[in-house]
Formats: sequence, structure tokens, C-alpha cells
Amino acid sequence: MIEGKNFINGQWRTGDNATPVMSPAQPSERVGSILLSTQDDVNAAVDAAEAASIAWKKFGMVARGNHLFQAAEALEPIVDELAALAAREMGKPVAEARGEALRAVAILRYYAGEGLRSVGDVIPSSNAQSLQYTTRTPLGVVAVVTPWNFPLAIPMWKVAPALVYGNTVVLKPAEWSSLTAIRMMERIGALFPQGVLNLITGLGSITGEALIRHPKIRGISFTGSTTVGAHIAEVATANGVKYQAEMGGKNAVVVTADANLELAVDSTVSGAMRSAGQKCTATSRVIVLSEIHDLFLDRLRERLTKIKQGNPLDTDTYLGPVVSASQYQKVSDYIALGDQEGHLVVGGVHQTREATDGYYIAPTVFDQVQPSARIAQEEIFGPVVSVITANSLEEAISVTNGIRYGLSASIFTQSLHTALQFVEEVEVGLVRVNEETAGVELQAPFGGVKASSSHSREQGRSALEFYTDIKTVSIRP
Ligand code: NAD
Repeated sequence: MIEGKNFINGQWRTGDNATPVMSPAQPSERVGSILLSTQDDVNAAVDAAEAASIAWKKFGMVARGNHLFQAAEALEPIVDELAALAAREMGKPVAEARGEALRAVAILRYYAGEGLRSVGDVIPSSNAQSLQYTTRTPLGVVAVVTPWNFPLAIPMWKVAPALVYGNTVVLKPAEWSSLTAIRMMERIGALFPQGVLNLITGLGSITGEALIRHPKIRGISFTGSTTVGAHIAEVATANGVKYQAEMGGKNAVVVTADANLELAVDSTVSGAMRSAGQKCTATSRVIVLSEIHDLFLDRLRERLTKIKQGNPLDTDTYLGPVVSASQYQKVSDYIALGDQEGHLVVGGVHQTREATDGYYIAPTVFDQVQPSARIAQEEIFGPVVSVITANSLEEAISVTNGIRYGLSASIFTQSLHTALQFVEEVEVGLVRVNEETAGVELQAPFGGVKASSSHSREQGRSALEFYTDIKTVSIRP
């Protein structure tokens, strides 16, 4: 069992302010404990990262990439263990968590390869003798603040590019997923020079706040709620610190009359119910063209009754518990609101177990929801879907866009014309045709518009933009 500790300057440090971590599937079961780190812990981690910064920068990209290759090799043999730990700690079904652990390994390999790729441009100079080009410089110490819903992939898709491009890192994982981060760090932390990669756990309001305000931090990469992201944006802007914030979503699927119905239903179920709907890219609104509404709803209802909900450690579990008592309460409150704002099709409060038996929420669908209803506008982050009827493609696109978020949206259609109109007009960072709203690949840019993002992008080569500054060089011989 993992007990509270931080990884600072290449050493594990324990403390006496640990708090227990309980399983969301069995709230009386203790899974381990994490430290509630203080300002002193944050200072120690940032000081270590700063001290390591110059030497790490001088290592060069190729050598840094080699360290990431070694980290991938070290992590791969324990993907099953990591998946089981994530399942026990935050409730993601183990089969899904295993896929995420493999993704973390693949991310490390991708950014290891970045160590061999070019990073600048040669630009013609009006002075024929001069050599003008751009190169990239790391920011320095980067704070990485992550949510609990992807305990392995999200920390890794920030940490790996930060490191290969020459930054040193202090990672602060979410309170509900820190054990998985600690186990990951046990395998890879010591593969890097002392101080290059540090991990501190604790509450967002204390440890996270101290970290983002630390005067030696030169970059903040945050993923989490829109409320906290907006706060981080304010703090970073006031302090002149580069930041990126990837935040909430309220993602829509549009089902047209010519859609492949089986595909649309399967993708809606997967997008809405995997990870118990706790993905920023989860499907939470389905906008159905009126001609196909009844047929779609029948198939969706039928499909949802076959979903296997249960212990996240069982390999055939499709839907596990939500992460915590507070998340259980929040989703239950939205379901109660849904009874007033829509017509219950499946699930609902009466089908949901008592919280003492695990934070399980029944897969829930409301029909006849108005686009302006709160359940259709606010991020619920649970296995709950609102179905909205539209009378035309134009109306469906307008409903898709009529929201503060802009992360992901899908359309199911056989018409190229319809698909292209949707791609053109929809206001999101990720648009998908005949594919579910979740599931963007690691080598492609990821991020949103509107309140979903600071308009920066993560993953793939986009990470270079955030984790480095451009330096323009002109040399006259
Ligand atoms: P959260 O905002 O509550 O917490 C995220 C992280 O921020 C945690 O590590 C937390 O400890 C920390 N934090 C909280 N307050 C802080 C403060 N004042 N200063 C510094 N750090 C602070 O989010 P969550 O509940 O962990 O995650 C769920 C949210 O994340 C959802 O809104 C979801 O849509 C979003 N999310 C977005 C993406 C994306 O890429 N767009 C991906 C996954 C999750």
C-alpha cells in the first residue's frame, strides 16, 4: 500500500500530515494515503527544480529524449499494476485504465522521439550575408497541475513534452488520483537527474495555490475545471507567467436522419458512459433530427439496459462508480433536476445505489430537454445524457454552439455535404464525423475554444508551442 510521500530532488520524503485515500467502489476500504503538502514542501520542490534547470537545459534534446525512452521502458512492465491501482483509487474500470496506462507509455515514446526532430526555421534575411533563424528555449521550472479523471495520461502528456524541451517540472496531481502518480514516479523519477522531475501531493486550495503563485515558476500547465482554470489564468497573467488551461466541456453528438444508427448509438453509449461520463470530452448532449428521434431513442434505451455496471476491478465492467462522495452528490442533484427539465428514459435516482455501497450512478438519459435547460448547459461529469430534438441541420448546429463550452462535437451522417457543413460551422476545438466525442489520438493537437480552453493546444507537436519560447537569431559573419 502506498503511504503519503513526495518526490523532491531525487528523494522520497514522508511527513506527518497524511490523509487516507478511500476506494469509491467501496468507501470503507482504505487504498493508501497522501501527504497534504505545505508551502515549505512546495518551496523545496520548486527550489530543486530550479537548481536542476541549467544543467538539464544543457543536456540537449537528444539526451533528454533518451531519458524519456528509458522511462517508457520502465513503465511498460507495470501497466497492469497501474491500471488496478487507478481502478481502486478513482474507480475507472480496469480495462479502460489499462488502455490509459499504455497510452502514457506511448506518450513517453512519442516525446522521446521529439528529441530527434528539428525545432526551428531558417528565415531569409534582407542582408544576404546574414544567417537568420529561430531556435527554441525552455521556459524553466514548469508547474503541472492535473485532474483525477485521467490519472496517468494527463500528467504524462504534460510532463513528457515539458522535459524533452528542456524544462524541469513540479507535478501536483489531483487529490483523488495521487497514488497512481506516486507509483508512476516510483518507476521513472530516479531515471532523471536530481531535481528535474518532482512530485508533490496535496489540496488544490493550499498546495496547488502555493505552487502556481511561486515566484520561481515560469510556466503553468493546468487541466481541470473551468472555475479553477480561470483563477489560474488570473494569477499567471498578474505574475507574467506563461500558462495553458484545458478545462470543462459539454460535448454534443448530432444524429441526422441518414446516420448509421448502430454506429451512432454505440458511439453515444461509449462517449457518455465510459469513465462514468467523467471525461472532458464525454458525450453529454445528443441532438437528434426529428425524423429519426423515436428510432434512435429506442435503440439507445435497449443498448443502455445491457451495460454492465460493477466493480472497477472486474475486467468486464463497463461502468464503474464516480470518483467521490461529492461527485456522487453533484451528479445525483443534476439527475433530480433532470426530472423537472426533461423526461426520464432510463436510469434516474431510484435506480442508483446508496452511496455507502459505492458511488455508483445508473446510466441515465433524459429526453425532451430544452437547449437552455441547466442539464443541457452545465457540465455534469457523470453518466447522464440529455436528448434534444432539432428540426433541421441548421438548428442542430445552432444548439451545438449555443453553450459556453467548445471542446468536442460529433456528427453521425452518411452525407459528405452535411459533414463538411458541420465541420465548418461548429465552434469546438475537436470535431468528429462518425466517431465518438472522446478519443483524440496522442499525436494530434488537443484542446478547445470558448470556456473549454485558454486556446492553447496540447499533445503532438503543439506542445512545443507551450513548453518553449521562440528565440530569433541573426548572425552576420
Ligand atoms: P479541478 O479544477 O477541481 O482540479 C484540477 C487540479 O487543480 C487538481 O490537481 C486540484 O488540486 C488543482 N487545484 C484546485 N484548486 C486549485 C488552486 N486554487 N490552485 C491551484 N491548483 C488548484 O478539476 P477536477 O475535478 O480534478 O477535474 C475535473 C475537471 O477537469 C472537469 O471540469 C473536466 O472537464 C476537466 N478536464 C478537462 C480536460 C481537458 O483537456 N479539457 C481533461 C480532463 C479533465
